[in-house]
Parts: sequence; C-alpha cells; structure tokens
Amino acid sequence: MDSRNLINVTKTYLPPFEEFASLLSETWNTRWVTNQGPLAEQLETKLKEYLGVRHLLFVSNGTIALQLAIRALGLTGEIITTPYSYVATATSVLWERCKPVFCDIDKSDFCMDVSKIEALIGPETSAILPTHVYGFPCDTSSITQIAEKHGLKVIYDAAHAFGVKTKERSLLSFGDVSAVSFHATKLFHTIEGGAVITDSDEIAEKLFLFRAFGHKDDDYISIGINARNSELHAAVGLCNLPRVGSFIQRRKDLNDLYRRSLDNSRIEIPAIPKHIDYNYSYFPVLLSNEAEAVSLKEHLSAGGINTRRYFHPSLNTLPYLNPSSCPVSENIAGRVLCLPMYQELEDEDVLRISRSVNEFMGY
Ligand SMILES: *Cc1c(COP(=O)(O)O)cnc(C)c1O
Repeated sequence: MDSRNLINVTKTYLPPFEEFASLLSETWNTRWVTNQGPLAEQLETKLKEYLGVRHLLFVSNGTIALQLAIRALGLTGEIITTPYSYVATATSVLWERCKPVFCDIDKSDFCMDVSKIEALIGPETSAILPTHVYGFPCDTSSITQIAEKHGLKVIYDAAHAFGVKTKERSLLSFGDVSAVSFHATKLFHTIEGGAVITDSDEIAEKLFLFRAFGHKDDDYISIGINARNSELHAAVGLCNLPRVGSFIQRRKDLNDLYRRSLDNSRIEIPAIPKHIDYNYSYFPVLLSNEAEAVSLKEHLSAGGINTRRYFHPSLNTLPYLNPSSCPVSENIAGRVLCLPMYQELEDEDVLRISRSVNEFMGY
C-alpha cells in the first residue's frame, strides 16, 4: 500500500512551527522551561476561561490526573467504575491500591447505566468513577443524587469531553474532580498533558501540593509526586486552544458526511445525544457481531484505512482482574469500530472510507 494513501484513525494537529517557536523565544532567554512557568500559568488561565471552571491544574498526562484525583479525595476500598473506557481508567484505580467494581453500561450512550449503580454499593465503596465515552455525557444528575445519598465522591474521566457542553455548561465542570487528557490523539492536546478540574478550594490545594512533591517553596507539607508539565507542552496548548472551535466545526461536517454516505441498513451509527453541544471527537460504528467487526477492520486495513477497536476489551475482562460480568459492555466492546476522525481528514477520504465499508457490508 502506498503510504501516501494511508488513512490513520487519527492524526495529531500541529500548529505552524513559527507560531510555536515564537511563543518560546522568551523561554529560551530566561531558561524557565518547566516548574510552572509563565506559559503553563497562561494556559491554565485561558483554559479556566474557556471552560468556565474554578480550578484547573495542568499536569503531565491524563492518567496521572486520575491518580491525583483519587489521592486528593482520599479514596480507599472500592471504586465503582465503567468497564467501557480506555484501560487507564481501571489501572489508575488499581495503581492507587483501590479495587475497581464494574458497573455495566447503557447500550444507547455507552456510559455507566445509572440504574445499576446502587446494587454495587457496599461498606467499602468510596467513589464512582464514570467516563463520558466519546464525549457523550454521563447522566450526571442521577450520579450526583446517588453519590450524595450514599456519601460517595465522584470523579469523571473526561478525557473525551473537551468542548462538550450541556445547558451551556462545560461537561468538565461536573463531579468532585474531572480528569482530562491532552494527549496528542485528543481533540485538544498539548502532545502529552492533562488537567485536574475542581470547584473545591480545599481539593485544589491538595492537587496543587501533590502535583509537585508536596511542598510549597520551603514548606514541606505532605507527600506528593511529580505530575507537572513543561513550557514546551504549554506552548503547544496555547497555539491549539484558539483553534478548538474550528476543529469541532470541521469534525461536525465530517461526521455529517459519514452519516450521509454510509449505508446504515446493516451498520449501526450511534445517535448523538440531543440538547448538547457536542465535540465530534470520535466516529464509532457498531457491527452485528465480533466476527464481522474484526473482518471489516481487516478489509479496511487492506485498503490502507486504519480503524481502532476502541474500546476493546471490556475492562472487566482484563486478565489481571478477578472475573466479573458486564454483558452490555462486553457485547458493545466486541462489535465496535472507530473510523478515522480528525480535522485534517478530507471529504474525499470520508467518501473512500464509506465506499469501502459499504462494499464490505454489501457482499
Ligand atoms: C486518553 C485517555 C486516558 C489517558 O490519558 P493519557 O493522557 O494518555 O494518560 C484516560 N482515559 C480515557 C478515556 C482516555 O481516552
């Protein structure tokens, strides 16, 4: 296959190099390259404005953001989480020596099925950790209600939710803490990076300490870790942030084009939830079974089109965990495929991908 014709599932947007470099000219003079420099500060301020949130701390990645959130909320014992997410959601719980208890998902939006949460709450439960899958919002009002009733904390894995709003409010503003990833594959990225977001001054103070070894200048207050990020990464973020609106608009157009050109009589295209401002971050489709999903993936790959089984496997089936059952998540994980989606994708690429899918489904 000619590599020029290869279509990847995602492609990292990079700003014009001169723009990136000019942001860093002062950094090259001062040599203030990390340790919460002026660009990291500026990025935090702009992100807080853009998202309308009270506290946001820029960190080195989305996984450490989840781990810091678990630490700052002092979680122990069991955390009720989703089996349908990236593996980092479950491994961050395990890494912090808590036990993930998997709550199955709703088959229409792939988020935690809130009607199944309460049956999983026991004396050891300390928190609920759902993911806004593909940027589809979790049922935040039911989750808040359940958490308040049982005295539990809520952390959202909001890695997919940048730019999503419900009733004019950023999805990143929900929960005791929201953890977000700014990895190169995400809609808004800083190459490597992430953030923890909270409304609470007290939790923000803990996150602040934990991010950098637990000390503030010469006061050594608590234990901590190194979760800070650099001026170079902040500069990428400062270049990309003003472009997020146009990224989302372009992805919306590509999403519409996929929906018009894919033959949806045998392929299921999940509906975008109503009454939200969506970010069009992914384009998942569902096949009728796992064998068909795997053969379609191979068929597209042979034509130079890369797709991803995102999310497969269902996290409750990870080999290092005790077996548990989440039939809906396992079913969806088996037959899902994410088609290429990124702002630099061309219309003709979407048409080529759609033709290839339709051809496969039609034989
Ligand atoms: C990307 C992602 C993460 C991890 O973020 P990193 O920045 O790669 O550590 C966690 N959860 C979900 C749902 C993700 O998509």
